[in-house]
Amino acid sequence: MLQQTGVKTVVPYFQKFTNKWPDIVSLSKANENEILRYWQGLGYYSRSRNLLKTAKIINRDYNANIPSSLEELILLPGIGDYASAAIRSIGFNKKATVIDGNVKRVIARFFSLEGTLASNFDDISYLAKMLTPSKGNADYSQAIMEFGALICKPKQPECKLCILREKCLSFKYGLVLSIPEAKKRINKKKLKCDSFLAINNNQFVLIIKRKEQNLLKDMWQLPSSDWISEMSVRKLSSQIPFKSNWIQQKKKINYKFSHINLLNTTYVTKVKTKIKLDHLEYKWINLKELDSYPLVTLTKKILLDNNLI
Ligand code: SF4
Repeated sequence: MLQQTGVKTVVPYFQKFTNKWPDIVSLSKANENEILRYWQGLGYYSRSRNLLKTAKIINRDYNANIPSSLEELILLPGIGDYASAAIRSIGFNKKATVIDGNVKRVIARFFSLEGTLASNFDDISYLAKMLTPSKGNADYSQAIMEFGALICKPKQPECKLCILREKCLSFKYGLVLSIPEAKKRINKKKLKCDSFLAINNNQFVLIIKRKEQNLLKDMWQLPSSDWISEMSVRKLSSQIPFKSNWIQQKKKINYKFSHINLLNTTYVTKVKTKIKLDHLEYKWINLKELDSYPLVTLTKKILLDNNLI
């Protein structure tokens, strides 16, 4: 959960998730829909699918015991260099070098490596390995990551409190605030889309299952148009899920992804019957049952704005 996501956001998700599935055996029996529902709002949904696949494999092939060798861990879905090192180090207290963003920044500053973290990655990895202790590895890994999060922070590091200050080269040369060099800001694509909120009897809404092989695969959402450039023009009639009196809502929703700014316009219609759509995997869901569907965040925002959840 903590990959790409901050601790503050993760804590309530983690608590709910581990209350529901406290161990690998119970998690391995969950279905993907349920997992996605507990993950909704955290984003990067492939992490949750991989977690489920990995739990199933560990339950089936390892008698529900997490393996501790690098060779076995690295073959599990969703486990790469960082996660395998973290499991080996923190979980098994084995010698493994954990390198997250905090560790990279502490090392870059301590050794005064000018440039971006990415441009110094080889040097940082080499130095991180040199520093990795054989004993007490679990404590060391957690300590250096926490040190980066609490003392050698990205902005306003606490150099006055720092126990490494005497030996820190960035501090010595007055370079603390310029190391690491900031990444170049990416220009986010500006796209737009239309979402269609169909309400039947003030009780049911129409939702569809996403099929595209992307991050949001198998999540549920309101029917919506393709995402197109903010400057493009298209006819509403080519996008609507069915003919009806669609009313455009004034309030637009600006939704931010890591590489995209998406401007959503919502159209609402009230229908007397639950219209059938042959070409989509869709459901008319009673508003009281919406909780049991993993919904994409944009759909949740639209439903909230319309006081439907
Ligand atoms: S002295 Fe400042 S820059 Fe150097 S390690 Fe400590 S907190 Fe980080």
